[in-house]
Formats: sequence, structure tokens, C-alpha cells
Amino acid sequence: MKIELDVHTHTIMSGHAFSSLQEMVKAGAEKGLSLLGITEHTPGIPGTCELIYFRNLHVVPRRMYGIDLLLGAEINILDGEGNLDLDEHHMKMLDLRIAGIHSLCYKQGTIDENTHGMVEVIANPYIHIISHPGDGTAPLHFEPLVLAAKEHHTLLEINNSSLKPCRNKFDARAKNIEILRLCKQYEVPVILGSDAHISFDIAVYDNLLPLISETEFPEELIINTSMKKFKDYLSI
Ligand SMILES: [Zn+2]
Ligand SMILES: [Zn+2]
Repeated sequence: MKIELDVHTHTIMSGHAFSSLQEMVKAGAEKGLSLLGITEHTPGIPGTCELIYFRNLHVVPRRMYGIDLLLGAEINILDGEGNLDLDEHHMKMLDLRIAGIHSLCYKQGTIDENTHGMVEVIANPYIHIISHPGDGTAPLHFEPLVLAAKEHHTLLEINNSSLKPCRNKFDARAKNIEILRLCKQYEVPVILGSDAHISFDIAVYDNLLPLISETEFPEELIINTSMKKFKDYLSI
């Protein structure tokens, strides 16, 4: 499978990652990508960058070392209402907007409330991708998420990092398989995300590839195989 892009990565500006922006782009180019996305955490995660960082993204070239660059954020979903921790003013400054649930700043609800909130976020016109919906942080019904993702052209991510054995996310394997099975059934594309916090991990999908094989997930529904397909699907 030819992988052209990885758009969920973090630099030192997220506070708990280890490579600079230029190191990340160079590594993405060396790995043969056409497109790299860098998506720093928003304020709900301790130690991440201040909002002024997002306001200054205009200084960064969107093409370097022969590859294209999207600069955005991984925005925190806060609750079962679908509230986010970044305002519209700052969202508009970003090339790419991922949203995800993180235990550090999520008000846990019932499975129905969590699902309702995530459907609201999927329908939010600013949001392109939902990060690690299958990591088990909040219980969710996956079928409504997949159907909403199809309706709104929002991508659900299969996240490599949450499948690393050292993360101890014991439910992640079964939950991601369930997402893949539903996306296959309803013909909904998914995006693979490395969630790299160091340059070496860019476009590393070793933990999730066995799940792709196990579900016999169709390659044409993996959006990372074509930058054009990715940009067309999200209209970016
Ligand atoms: Zn995340
Ligand atoms: Zn992340």
C-alpha cells in the first residue's frame, strides 16, 4: 500500500513531543510522503502551546523540503454537548482541524451522551477528522458515528499510537476493528494517523496494519493512499 500522507503529528510545541517542525517535515520528506500535517494540542492539554502560536502560523511556508505541509490543531472535545476548547476565531487560522477526546480534559458522560457529543463534532463544519475514536477513553456507539461521518464528510481516524502495547489501551484493538467493519459495510473512508510525537514515528502504521488485514478493509477506503483523494474528500 502506497502511503502519501500522515496528517496527525505533534512537535515540541505540544509540550510532550520531541521534534521541531523542520525536523518533522524533513523526516516526512525522507519517508516519501507528499503531505504532512502537524496538529498541536489546544489549551486543555497541560504544557501545550499558547494560542499566540496558532495566530502566528502564517509565517510558516506550506511547502518545504519538497513536500506540502498542513498546519492545524488537535482540538479537545470537552463534553457530551460537543463543545470544543478552541474558538471559531482561532479555528479559522488553521489549515486542518482534528478533534478528539482526551481524558485530561473531558467531562465523562453516559455512552449516549458521549456519542451525542461526538456526532455534534462530526457535524461541525470546521472539523475535518476525529482522532482516535476507538481508543476507549469514552464509551461510544460506533454505528451513529460512522453514519454521521459519511453524511458530513468527516474522517474517522484509525490511530496507530493508541494501539501501541505500552499505552495499555486494552479495548483499542476491538473498538478499532468494530469501526473498520462498520466503515467497510457503509463504504465510509477512514484515515490512518500515526499521532507521531517524534519524527521517527511519522507515517508508522505498524500497530494498525494487522487490523486492516484482519477486517479485509478495502484499500480504496484508506484516504492516506492519495493526497488528491484526501483533499477532494475534505474540500481543502
Ligand atoms: Zn489525541
Ligand atoms: Zn495527537
